[in-house]
Amino acid sequence: MTKANIFNIQKFSVHDGPGIRTTFFFKGCPLSCLWCHNPESQNYNKQVLFDKDKCVSCLSCQEACPENAISVKNNIVTTDEQLCKHCGLCEIYCIPGARQVVGKEYTIEEIMKEALKDRVFYNKSGGGVTVSGGEPLTQIDFVEDFLKRLKAENIHTAVDTSGAVNFDSLQRISEYTDLFLYDIKLMDDEKHKRYIGASNKLILSNLEKLSEIHDGINIRMPIIEGINADENHIKKTIEFIKKLNIKKVNLLPYHDIAMHKYKKLGISYEKEKMSKPSDEKIQQFKNMFIDEGYEVKIGG
Ligand code: SF4
Ligand code: SF4
Repeated sequence: MTKANIFNIQKFSVHDGPGIRTTFFFKGCPLSCLWCHNPESQNYNKQVLFDKDKCVSCLSCQEACPENAISVKNNIVTTDEQLCKHCGLCEIYCIPGARQVVGKEYTIEEIMKEALKDRVFYNKSGGGVTVSGGEPLTQIDFVEDFLKRLKAENIHTAVDTSGAVNFDSLQRISEYTDLFLYDIKLMDDEKHKRYIGASNKLILSNLEKLSEIHDGINIRMPIIEGINADENHIKKTIEFIKKLNIKKVNLLPYHDIAMHKYKKLGISYEKEKMSKPSDEKIQQFKNMFIDEGYEVKIGG
């Protein structure tokens, strides 16, 4: 039976589509955005997050580990990812909360049970379920089944996608998706490759094709000073989406709230390259879209 690898289930979410929603975050992503808010989503496998600052070197985790995956190197508690089976025991035994296993497998029945628990909130608020990530469509078979079952229960569905997948995946779920939240991050392909790790050609061409078969697409644009907070990027985006069947845009100003996660994963965060755009600039970009007839929201 296919299982999904989910790294977070966010209840009462109000930033991932209309009303109150439950958002399921799927693990795995083909992109590696410099500012990614969910760096723990990028790897397709489960991972152990370790907060060095919380660790008191009690070594309870080492004692608990059935795989002998934990050792001390240079006075730092270290996990051998090759030996680790992600059983979660060390997390339970770590009293200061320095360890966290990210990623959990769910069957379709288990995930549906989670989704249906909040039906009363969806009904009262006009909300529903959002699948996000990572890139949820990298687990397309499971996501398709999930969306199909949600629609059979008459629940509103939204899919937050980078668009960096085969078009076939978008096509397969379009019938069961009420709303696509589709990211445009950079119109300049060279910058896209540099800051996101892949070309934007597939993403933009998929958006063109999707807008021909689906009329519920909102564009989501992270705005990051130092990367894409310039008029030219906004102009080019407007020029591109004007040809398409799109009416709503979300502008998402950068923040560095996820920085601590990079530390826990032991990967570098290039903070010096990015900063929050000014409120004036965001307002200017918002007005540029409004002038072209778009409904614009700042934030999710
Ligand atoms: S159990 Fe937690 S606090 Fe103790 S050594 Fe392991 S990681 Fe550090
Ligand atoms: S998750 Fe399990 S196998 Fe991995 S380090 Fe912790 S106790 Fe060991």
